[in-house]
Amino acid sequence: MVFPIFGKKPGSFLRLQGAFRGYGTGLIINAKDATVQQNFTIAHGLGHYALEHHKDPRFEKNYSVILRDACSAGQTPMELEANLFADNLLVPSMFLQKYLNKYPYATDQELSNIFGVPSEVIYRRRLYV
Ligand SMILES: [Zn+2]
Repeated sequence: MVFPIFGKKPGSFLRLQGAFRGYGTGLIINAKDATVQQNFTIAHGLGHYALEHHKDPRFEKNYSVILRDACSAGQTPMELEANLFADNLLVPSMFLQKYLNKYPYATDQELSNIFGVPSEVIYRRRLYV
């Protein structure tokens, strides 16, 4: 796992959050991202590895690297699968339900701070609790 700094090109919306290298050889995480985003990007990359996307024919044909930025996140079936893996790893249903039972009016941002994940992860997890 390496943590280079990726900048944002002026006039571009590409701001790389991370990348999963082909053949399961490594993760690249943007060192400039907030810790909660890095946590998610690492878990997302582990999802690609655990789900063996590097062995998937969809990966072999089209990619040697899966790039992740705010625009591409969740756009393909493999990205959705890796997001689901990361969401469940970082915010287990049992713990989220426990907090929601105790603090039913907790906001996504408050839960985001508790779990150390971006608030959109909490939003997605709340849909399935
Ligand atoms: Zn991905």
